[in-house]
Amino acid sequence: MAEFQKIPMKTPLVEMDGDEMTRVIWKMIKEILLLPYIDLNTEYYDLGLENRDKTNDQVTVDSAMATKKYGVAVKCATITPNAARMDEYHLKEMWKSPNGTIRAILDGTVFRTPILVRGITPFIPGWRKPITIARHAYGDVYKNVEAQVPAGAKTELLVTKADGTEEKYLIHQFDGPGIIQGLHNTDKSIESFARSCFNFALDMKQDLWFATKDTISKKYDHRFKDIFQDIFDRDYAGKFKEAGIEYFYTLIDDAVARVIRSEGGFIWACKNYDGDVMSDMVATAFGSLAMMTSVLVAPDGTCEYEAAHGTVQRHYYKYLKGETTSTNSVATLFAWTGALRKRGELDGNEALMTFAGKLEAATLSTIESGVMTGDLASMSTLPEIKKVDTEGFLRAVDEKLREML
Ligand code: NAP
Ligand code: MG
Repeated sequence: MAEFQKIPMKTPLVEMDGDEMTRVIWKMIKEILLLPYIDLNTEYYDLGLENRDKTNDQVTVDSAMATKKYGVAVKCATITPNAARMDEYHLKEMWKSPNGTIRAILDGTVFRTPILVRGITPFIPGWRKPITIARHAYGDVYKNVEAQVPAGAKTELLVTKADGTEEKYLIHQFDGPGIIQGLHNTDKSIESFARSCFNFALDMKQDLWFATKDTISKKYDHRFKDIFQDIFDRDYAGKFKEAGIEYFYTLIDDAVARVIRSEGGFIWACKNYDGDVMSDMVATAFGSLAMMTSVLVAPDGTCEYEAAHGTVQRHYYKYLKGETTSTNSVATLFAWTGALRKRGELDGNEALMTFAGKLEAATLSTIESGVMTGDLASMSTLPEIKKVDTEGFLRAVDEKLREML
């Protein structure tokens, strides 16, 4: 085997280890594809559930603070505990979702992008380039207050201002029984969302689309539209022009129709609920959750990269029994390459950026040569397919990578 001059790294990358099958994959990726080529400089945080429990989840907070400090993190999928996990891991508490904790500290927006590869055809044949969904991660129906109301109820919205004055709005005078719901969002959160989206569009050199239902929701949705437009006009219009990209606002129903007819290659910013629904639609239409990357971008540009899928629990139990698994590592691998590229960009480390690009190319070229894990093998339209196990796939990528270096 040829020896390679290892690429040095100036600033540490924040490394957040995780759980189950993705933790197994994490270690394999490092050993097979990173450590032989890079003088890997990471600040390691073990977000595996056992260590989160041991540290009373302090490790999650520490890892987010480190990300703020260094600017780039890569995260493995982690278990969000539920009742079953309480017993399985003998937890002290049902710890909150690490992603939620990290997102709250970084105040970021999550961008999800499918990885396109020849042989896996989107369900929408016209989609030739990836569509990235940016989902606003605060408020609306996810922080709602709601109630069932009896017949005859008069329901009102009451606003008590700081100076004690009140404003009242009639919601509905009920004849029969019914339901009500109170929603909110904050200018600050919408502004952060807008800035993250504009920054990400500039980073990707792709158009940004944003859509709400402002014709019906003349105050609530209209506020989103206005904040986006104000920030764009004030701080981004010039930069977008320079980059040759556009900001495009339309109504959500018009956006859906345009997205389906488009060829892809843009970022679609969505309000919280729209993003929840549309990201599952777009992910499914592009083929597979195992081929979807995710990056949390804070308004100050701090980035945390991860795979969009979970810890692939069912495969892990097979692995524990000593059975062969064929788990797709592509999204986790691309989380690493995304983070390494970003680290390289911030440090002016060309060699690291080039390596990230070559590792991605080697991964895609491996799949396009017919070598893939089971999930892709069952979907691929390539004439000759060789299904490999979890480690076999990473070894095949390494072979391609060595040809390229
Ligand atoms: P999941 O881990 O995404 O897996 C769901 C199913 O999708 C798998 O059973 C598998 O199907 C398929 N799949 C997903 N990723 C795959 C891959 N890389 N290669 C091959 N197949 C893949 O979701 P889950 O089973 O609902 O959740 C498991 C744990 O992950 C939970 O504890 C949850 O809290 C956590 N989770 C974490 C994150 C995160 O950290 N970002 C996100 C979501 C869920 P087959 O079994 O049919 O092969
Ligand atoms: Mg969802």
